[in-house]
Amino acid sequence: MHIVVLSRNAKLYSTSRLVEAIEDEGHIATVLDHLKCDIISEQDNPCILYRGTKVTGVDAVIPRIGSSVTFYGSAVVRQFEMMKVFSTVESQALVRSRDKLRSLQILARSGVGMPKTVFTNDSTEVRKIIELVGGPPLIVKLLEGTQGVGVILAPTFQAAESIIQAFHSMETRVIVQEYIEEAKGEDIRAFVVDGKVVGAMKRKGKEGEFRSNLHRGGSGSLIELSAEERKTALIAAESMGVSVAGVDMLQSSRGPLALEVNSSPGLQGIEAATGKNIAGEIVAFIKRSINGPHS
Ligand code: ADP
Ligand code: GLU
Repeated sequence: MHIVVLSRNAKLYSTSRLVEAIEDEGHIATVLDHLKCDIISEQDNPCILYRGTKVTGVDAVIPRIGSSVTFYGSAVVRQFEMMKVFSTVESQALVRSRDKLRSLQILARSGVGMPKTVFTNDSTEVRKIIELVGGPPLIVKLLEGTQGVGVILAPTFQAAESIIQAFHSMETRVIVQEYIEEAKGEDIRAFVVDGKVVGAMKRKGKEGEFRSNLHRGGSGSLIELSAEERKTALIAAESMGVSVAGVDMLQSSRGPLALEVNSSPGLQGIEAATGKNIAGEIVAFIKRSINGPHS
């Protein structure tokens, strides 16, 4: 098989591990920068040009699309789909997962536990909103934030009120969320491939930090998921339609609470914490999808 990894940088850990896993299985791997792909639309002949050369003979793509280039990246994935090329993450699911508000609405419908969350455009009812999420301390999140940037812990009523009003006055969209204190700066990342949890880690924020993102200095360690945590991760990934997903959950006194479903989850932290060949699981998923389950 010829498998394309869509990535802006072949040297990134996740990209190079995917290339390695593809080649280990005797397939051909090519890394294409999605921003350098031209999308050609004409009657019955969708195609992609890469630096002037037509891209042909591709069996599957693995999108590694950063959130700042979701629009163009997802259009390139969609074009591969038009060319009948299998994608480990459908373009629709990719776009869906990048919209935090839409994701929360879908997760809520799926019935998984989640922190109570309010979205509002109107700062006249801030007091009511603060009460709705159980009062301070509470979390205010930028809808466009990623990697923990734009996630704010408001300790008091006054702080919460002024933060929300300030964002509203700048016309910056935020959600207000119940703060899960019992999580103690830790969260769980479950890596789901094709309806199975293939690895999980606990992420702990650095000293004094409530955000556990690895990008914010957090560290990952191996964890055995409870049956409920496993079920929550699988339902969350399935409801979002993301076949290769990093599902983030908080451990709370009322059970696991889903935070988000990541559609380009990093491999470095999870492979280091679990010692597992997660890249290989993704390649095996492609093989099953193209050749059937018994291949
Ligand atoms: P991002 O998409 O920017 O990573 P998240 O919503 O995943 O934003 O939040 C980043 C981190 O902040 C989480 O991994 C978690 O450790 C912490 N966090 C987020 N929401 C809450 C919450 N409601 N209660 C407690 N901690 C939270
Ligand atoms: N980019 C990696 C991911 O989405 C790491 C995120 C983080 O925890 O900082 O899996």
